[in-house]
Amino acid sequence: MRIDILTLFPEMFTGFLDGSLLGAARASGLLDIRVTNIRDFAEGVHRQVDDRPFGGGPGMLLMPGPVVACAEHVVADGLQAAFGADVGAPAEGATAPVILLTPGGRRLTQEVVEELSRRERIILVCGRYEGFDARVRTALGAEELSIGDFVLSGGEVAAMVVVDAVCRLVPGVLGDEESARQDSFSNPGRLVEGPQFTRPREFRGMGVPDVLLSGDHGKIAKWRQEQAIVATRRRDAGPSDRPGEPSINQSPVPTKKATEQTARAIETTPRSVP
Ligand code: SAH
Repeated sequence: MRIDILTLFPEMFTGFLDGSLLGAARASGLLDIRVTNIRDFAEGVHRQVDDRPFGGGPGMLLMPGPVVACAEHVVADGLQAAFGADVGAPAEGATAPVILLTPGGRRLTQEVVEELSRRERIILVCGRYEGFDARVRTALGAEELSIGDFVLSGGEVAAMVVVDAVCRLVPGVLGDEESARQDSFSNPGRLVEGPQFTRPREFRGMGVPDVLLSGDHGKIAKWRQEQAIVATRRRDAGPSDRPGEPSINQSPVPTKKATEQTARAIETTPRSVP
């Protein structure tokens, strides 16, 4: 899979792309991820990329010229890499698999991530300032993608979110394909994962559900499925307003010893005298 990231701040991607999972996948040739600076396609001595919006209003908009020129260059480069040097640049306005990151775009969900992970190429364009001139989308025949209903100051972090979520689904990147299938939103019912436990068996008075220690894989799978349904319902219902109600991430299972300790503590604690 080849992923291109178009940005005014290429240096933001250095640590991210060299990190453990992505760095190894790139080194082994599973992923070809390239970052291109939009400013390299700007004209004039000042290489201006932004200007004031027509009709007034706050802030600056990205000018269409540099963004579209950069995207067309990257599209052509990918075609040449895939089919040989004689393909030539695509005609102006040729449809390309370009994705603009915008707050108002299609919302990113695991389903969208799965769909993107099946593509051979993704071109992500990071906006800045007040965003893109509306003609960029039309000129490139681009899609728009949002990582959530909030506003970031730039598309770079959004692009990292997309790359991270998509790349871990590319076969070979995670190492254990089964683990991705068991993750939240990845099962047919799109359920979130229920509580998980590791050693020690007792932590701060909280134990581990007996079924997980039973060694009965059928029972464990059934329990996990039930817990996933409970966790999903609880999440869909929103945060509890009842004090003391455990949240999704807290599922304390008091051990017998802890219950006894609590009971003893209650018995031996002197009642406050008015
Ligand atoms: N004026 C725009 C916001 C611009 S934010 C508006 O009201 O919609 C600057 C840039 O950050 C955007 O161009 C986009 O690339 C990126 N961005 C901000 N929030 C985002 C989100 N939720 N998802 C994806 N990209 C986002």
